[in-house]
Amino acid sequence: MFGRRKRLWEAPPLQSRYDAVIIGGGLHGLATAYFLASRHGMTNVAVIEKRYVGFGGSGRNTAIVRANQRTQENLPLYREALDLWPVLTRELDFNLMFHNCGNLNLAHSEAALKAMRIQVASAQYHGIDIHLVDAVECKKLVPLLDISDRPRYPVAGGMFHPPGGIVRHDAVVWGLARGASKLGVHIHQGTEVTGIEVREGRIASVETDKGRIHTPRVLNAAGGYSADLSSRFMDLPLPISVLTIQAMVTQPLKPLLDHVVSSGAYHVYANQTLKGEIATGAHMDPWPNYTTGTSAHYIKHQAEAVTELMPCLKGLKFMRTWAGLADMTPDMAPIMDGNDPVEGYYMNCGWGYFGFKSSTVAGKYMAEFMATGECPSILGPFTPRRFEHHRLMGETAALMEYSANN
Ligand SMILES: Cc1cc2nc3c(=O)[nH]c(=O)nc-3n(C[C@H](O)[C@H](O)[C@H](O)COP(=O)(O)OP(=O)(O)OC[C@H]3O[C@@H](n4cnc5c(N)ncnc54)[C@H](O)[C@@H]3O)c2cc1C
Repeated sequence: MFGRRKRLWEAPPLQSRYDAVIIGGGLHGLATAYFLASRHGMTNVAVIEKRYVGFGGSGRNTAIVRANQRTQENLPLYREALDLWPVLTRELDFNLMFHNCGNLNLAHSEAALKAMRIQVASAQYHGIDIHLVDAVECKKLVPLLDISDRPRYPVAGGMFHPPGGIVRHDAVVWGLARGASKLGVHIHQGTEVTGIEVREGRIASVETDKGRIHTPRVLNAAGGYSADLSSRFMDLPLPISVLTIQAMVTQPLKPLLDHVVSSGAYHVYANQTLKGEIATGAHMDPWPNYTTGTSAHYIKHQAEAVTELMPCLKGLKFMRTWAGLADMTPDMAPIMDGNDPVEGYYMNCGWGYFGFKSSTVAGKYMAEFMATGECPSILGPFTPRRFEHHRLMGETAALMEYSANN
């Protein structure tokens, strides 16, 4: 007979004291908790999640992973993130469904190709497998593409990044939650952080709707809610705008799209999921808001963009559409910092629409930061002080002008 299936993670009672409290049961919070326990033996850790793990962007993203960022600060981080998927699949003993089908980013003008050349050269310098391709090679990679001069923005070429692809986002959430819980981390779903107490310049406790927790360390990994939390509970406003980002999937089809394909000019990316659906997204409503509603305007945009590039997909039905919050910084690079200006207060946020691919590596280094109190050098550039000093990173160019590649 079938026994009752065991829960993936435990639901222990809330303690009044933890060595670290992580706000947010998204991937950044869960990864940090997992690495605190697995690499630093710090297991008296609580992840506090107001809804359920994966409620935020972590359970709503389109699961695209890649390492073709633009700047020297970001490239090494994303490269390591890509290398971590197979490692974690083994370590967590959980199938994360890493499918490295490769990413093709299209360029639609000579200017866009020139900009891509810089991005390709920077990525190659950091040992990332990526190269430029012409329109004919694009067509070979994605036979559905229309490379004639019929589309409004004809395809001029692109950059192909073979090791990128997709990973099953829910599996990563569940695998990390199970892995952390097995090592002793407490995951408290349905529990909301309602305040943070600072005494003499240090973190003293965290207030939740289920009671107070004494702790010397708090990580703000609250995704779209991180800036609100930072200004309300810590009086530390962050330069983050919260925008809604939508995505959708079509009815399932037999395999016909082998790579993730994206175009900044059309504001679209598309890939075929392992279930056969065409998953597509990229467009963001350009005004700040905290809603996760979808819109007919966006469905229309997406249908037009996908079928302009791949006309044979005309007539397909969208089966499901959803939205999540993107916590955007002015330079489209994240904020990772700690002990400044309050000892024991750490931040891992501002991940916008690129925080899935980076979640595990960010968690790994944030865990090191929290366990040792020393900022790992790879995280140094991500301090929010860069905004005060007007030293913004050049990731906006990589992400917006021509590569709508989440
Ligand atoms: C439609 C869409 C498509 C995307 N596609 C991609 C993609 O293809 N590739 C990619 O790399 N990225 C993508 N992203 C971005 C990515 O999903 C996010 O950057 C990432 O999930 C952020 O993870 P997180 O852990 O920081 O935040 P979240 O997953 O949002 O988790 C934060 C959690 O904090 C909780 N919380 C908030 N306030 C409190 C509180 N007071 N107390 C307790 N808990 C609280 C929330 O409930 C939430 O669960 C996409 C996002 C969306 C919305």
